[in-house]
Amino acid sequence: MEGIQIQTKSDHAQLKRGDLIVLINPPNKKIVLRDLYCSTITKGTYNWPNIDLLTVSGTLKKYFSVRLIDANTLGLSEDQAIEQVVALKPKGLVFGFGVSVKEEDYHFIKKLRGLLPGIKFCGTGGLLYYNSVPELRKHPEFDACLRNFTTEDVLKFFKGDYGEMNNITYRNNGDIIYKPFIDQGHDYSHPVPVHEHLPLGKYRLSHGKARPMTTMLTSWGCPAVCTFCIQESMNYRYRSVDNIIEEMDHLKEIGVKEIFFRDGTFCASKKQGYALMNKMIEKNYGFSWVANTRGNVITEETARLMKRSGCHALHIGVETSNEEILKSTVKNITLDKIKNAFRVCKANGIVTLGYFILGLPGETPEDLKRTIDLAIELDCDYASFNLPFPQVGTTLRDQAVENGWLSRDNEDGYDGSLVPLIETDTLSAAQLMRFKNMAFRKFYFRPRFIYKTIKRLRSLYQINILLSEFKYFVKNRLT
Ligand code: SF4
Repeated sequence: MEGIQIQTKSDHAQLKRGDLIVLINPPNKKIVLRDLYCSTITKGTYNWPNIDLLTVSGTLKKYFSVRLIDANTLGLSEDQAIEQVVALKPKGLVFGFGVSVKEEDYHFIKKLRGLLPGIKFCGTGGLLYYNSVPELRKHPEFDACLRNFTTEDVLKFFKGDYGEMNNITYRNNGDIIYKPFIDQGHDYSHPVPVHEHLPLGKYRLSHGKARPMTTMLTSWGCPAVCTFCIQESMNYRYRSVDNIIEEMDHLKEIGVKEIFFRDGTFCASKKQGYALMNKMIEKNYGFSWVANTRGNVITEETARLMKRSGCHALHIGVETSNEEILKSTVKNITLDKIKNAFRVCKANGIVTLGYFILGLPGETPEDLKRTIDLAIELDCDYASFNLPFPQVGTTLRDQAVENGWLSRDNEDGYDGSLVPLIETDTLSAAQLMRFKNMAFRKFYFRPRFIYKTIKRLRSLYQINILLSEFKYFVKNRLT
């Protein structure tokens, strides 16, 4: 997209040093995970801190006072959340935004804006990344969409320093200003976020080991270019190791025990990943940690280093059993590399969660059967079976529109794991739903899975998580 300027209304008073900016993860009756340009409603009781808001809190506190509120995790009602924010009399507001709950999120922001008319509102979240101009045009209740939350543009925006901002789309003097990303090099850093503002004892992963838990980011974007993933369009950037360590020192001080690295691919830069893990070992933090990564990153040597630095679980994208589709959509990875990754994780005592997509373009019912069998063959400890998610900004969406599987006007908030959004020539929506349910039954209702899960339990905390996930499952899947 070329840089553009569109006439609309609005302008606000500039902020001064020390003014208060509130960052809020909006309330919702369900647990909503809205960060890193995706959002989903949790399918269990797992929940983690919004990494966009955390990162922005660090950047803003260089100049302003900040207050980070996770209204969703605190279980605040919409009115309670609004009351809290208004009572703080902020001079600026940053909100997390999720496409899967976009109506509720916009409703909340509109209500809040009505009570705080003279201050700047800035949002961060998937739709606001890939559709920033149309969203600002349709929604006068906010003033800016943060497209890369790891940069200083959010600070410049609130300071009114509008010179060069390529990572935020914003209103100024009646115009909407959008500038395309420019190459900013590979390295980045940001000040330590205010983790301590969050209810860290309330977050957890289904396979978590300890609390308090928080999230961190060691990189932005991803060097891989999977055609179904929004990160394919982002330039990969990674944080300086010293900067990450500074944040870890702080986490240690405030008593954090577990870290979930939200990177698309942790350790995609081997040099940075190894330097970081070696430093974690040297510092003897004792954190347990979990990360998202890719099969081609995990060698025997890497898995050993990960384990020594505290890793106890990895989320690994497998996607499909079909080598050809793997080559064309996931790129640069083979089934052999994936199988090896699961094997070395197991050998090093790292729990694995495999991500699978059922129904990528070109797949047949036979492929889906083989993918379900592959999940069992890999012997992953957990498996997440999802349906293709044609998010705006991905190659998958362009392909779906071109083939008539999806209307061009449909830019809606999707939660790809719930219902089929596209039917291809080889797989109908009904078939996709059938395979999704079959995958769940075949993988989770196996004596081996039940035996392995129980055998892995080491603490009361893990038993409690298992019991609450089970209760959630009975309530939501069997009723
Ligand atoms: S490896 Fe993961 S984060 Fe990176 S582009 Fe592929 S799906 Fe996205």
